Amino acid sequence: MVIASKDKGGLDPKKPVVLAQAGIHAGEIDGKDAGLMLLRDITQRGKDGLLDQVNFLFVPVFNADGHENSSPYSRPNQRGPEIQGFRTTAQNLNLNRDYAKLDAPEMQAMLGLINRYDPDLYLDLHVTDGTDYVHDITFAFQGWNGRYARSPKSGEWLDQRLRPALEAALSANGHFPSPYLDAVDGDAPEKGFNIGADTARFSTGFGDLRRMPTVLVETHSLKPYRQRVLGTYVLLEATLRAAAASGDALNAARAADRTLRKDRVVLSWKPLKAPIDSFAFRPIQRETWRSEASGRDEVRWTGRPGPVIQAPVFGSEPDVVVDAPAAYWVPAHKAEVIDRLRRHGVRMETVTEPRTVEVEVTRLVAPKSPAAIEGRFPLSAQDYVAERRTVTYAPGSVRVSTDQPLGELASILLEPRSPDSYLAWGFFPEILQRTEYMEGYVIAPLADRMLEADPKLAAEFRAKVAADPAFAADADARLRWFYEKTPFYDRRYLIYPVGRETRR
Ligand SMILES: [Zn+2]
Repeated sequence: MVIASKDKGGLDPKKPVVLAQAGIHAGEIDGKDAGLMLLRDITQRGKDGLLDQVNFLFVPVFNADGHENSSPYSRPNQRGPEIQGFRTTAQNLNLNRDYAKLDAPEMQAMLGLINRYDPDLYLDLHVTDGTDYVHDITFAFQGWNGRYARSPKSGEWLDQRLRPALEAALSANGHFPSPYLDAVDGDAPEKGFNIGADTARFSTGFGDLRRMPTVLVETHSLKPYRQRVLGTYVLLEATLRAAAASGDALNAARAADRTLRKDRVVLSWKPLKAPIDSFAFRPIQRETWRSEASGRDEVRWTGRPGPVIQAPVFGSEPDVVVDAPAAYWVPAHKAEVIDRLRRHGVRMETVTEPRTVEVEVTRLVAPKSPAAIEGRFPLSAQDYVAERRTVTYAPGSVRVSTDQPLGELASILLEPRSPDSYLAWGFFPEILQRTEYMEGYVIAPLADRMLEADPKLAAEFRAKVAADPAFAADADARLRWFYEKTPFYDRRYLIYPVGRETRR
């Protein structure tokens, strides 16, 4: 990382800190060259005034191993540079899916940097593939047209202060900026684009949760490398100027967002079917041709601009929303999860004596683990049922209060139904295993005594035998039915052990 600053003896806390990071996907390396050009011009060609009111942190290559894993064959959909790095790390992890779970040492280091310097603005520099269009540089953040920002004041600053400054500077320098373009149909972009809420695994979703205004920048893979680098350069310079010009407003926005305490937390989003907005889209014309290899008509982008169209924008709406608890309790034996929370900078109280608390734990109903992604076997369940329990947490367990600036982030990481929780990422596989059992010669006499002693239980059992022939014919299932009702049954089986201390 380069620290570009005029401050001597430490960074002046009154100046905004802008962190720009290139090469999270190392084949998308425009930002490295653009940032180094800008640093050259700051140090040697008279642009040092950019640092009068701003401090600039620059990470030229975030995914260093991916950058060294280079070849002319890494980015088949991209024009230049000639030799390109690879998207994922040596561990084959996509860093732009790792912001919540923090598996990669690279991401753990980045969190260390973020905790240390507390950037006021975070730029994540990429190159996008896919559909061709005139726009050569696109960008995204939570808060576009006032939507989706969990940190509303920061979102407003990005939308009303930064965005117009970037659009003006890019247009004045011959570029064609637009919102980040995720086409509904890549072969027919006139059908519209998705501009929805980003989740915590992505830089933009994560930065929003962290109360750290974050911008995704994507130059377009089919534009010449020179044009892409120059566009990124203009964007970086304009960002430094905007942060300098309205640094006080940026500070105030972040401070306001950090005082937010939410009673309800949106855990996930679902797409909306009807468009919510539109914008002026500049298409590239296309034609189709018959491929012998595919046996169908394939798209060919002609390179000729078409007339500007108002393209529809599709958004998202909250899906799963929960009440925020007062705190979460993470048992001491989940040291890995406690470590990740600490790396995030989440504040917690570590108990040194056993502490007995009434909490809500979660029973997973019909859990399933889909195919491995991002080095993990994720876990989801058909249903999640809350159970009140009195739990004694051993020394080393932590209480994570939601009454803190990162309280909403803690909910996203710890709520069982959050798609970016440690449960969902597969950090709790041990709860899928039931350990103890009862031999038939132990449970059968006990079960018969239970039938004699409890008429209500007996009636329930006989009704089930009558109604369910498969059950009636399965002796083991019948005995298991009783076993599950005894205190010998494994109380931890299928229980997500992170407790929710609910509000009184
Ligand atoms: Zn990328």
